[in-house]
Amino acid sequence: MNITERVAKIYSEIPENVRLIAVTKEADIDKIRQTYQNTVIRDYAENKLQSVLNKKPLLKDLDQIRWHFIGHLQANKAKKVLEEFKWIHSVDNLALLQRIDRLALENKLPCSICLQVKALPDPNKFGWTIEKLMEELKEIEKCQQFISIRGLMTILPLGLTSEEKIAAFSTIRNLAKSITGTSGVNIEELSMGMSGDYREAVACGATMIRLGRAIYSD
Ligand SMILES: *Cc1c(COP(=O)(O)O)cnc(C)c1O
Repeated sequence: MNITERVAKIYSEIPENVRLIAVTKEADIDKIRQTYQNTVIRDYAENKLQSVLNKKPLLKDLDQIRWHFIGHLQANKAKKVLEEFKWIHSVDNLALLQRIDRLALENKLPCSICLQVKALPDPNKFGWTIEKLMEELKEIEKCQQFISIRGLMTILPLGLTSEEKIAAFSTIRNLAKSITGTSGVNIEELSMGMSGDYREAVACGATMIRLGRAIYSD
């Protein structure tokens, strides 16, 4: 299958309201062009600022692209990331969130934000634990001067069974409901699901799936 066929197959498996984001960290310029020209995908994600700085000038004519940042974000790169990306999925601590909101306000750079949460304990992953997120909710709520906190993002540990994936994604969906119900933060987006687990994520209410290998691996 080529990119067009793989994307068509993925769309046939997911509901219409789910936004398919192409993760292009392993894709060269030509593959991104093919995706843009031959599919309806307009949302593209990178996990490194530098990759978008390199790729953007070569993709200037693809003027509908929305870039999503999905990598670990260092505080000193926050302003530049705000300049280059419409969405940041990987805000993983309160100090960083506060900094992003302040920089967005000072520089008039609107951005949609997802809070990265660990569905399961995982020492190798960044993100709020559920307990910590609930504890800091009042402070998180204040960080909406110029940014929109719109979603939760999660990355599951490797090696889970399908049942375990469903349980973990459901935990995040329930967390979103409880945040929206008890605070001034309105979580309407769930950024969950990668190539290895997007079917389970969609079954649990994902609204954005982030796919790399499923689109770009032969
Ligand atoms: C690489 C990456 C993806 C895509 O992973 P695939 O397994 O290639 O679909 C999704 N989300 C994040 C945060 C990533 O770094």
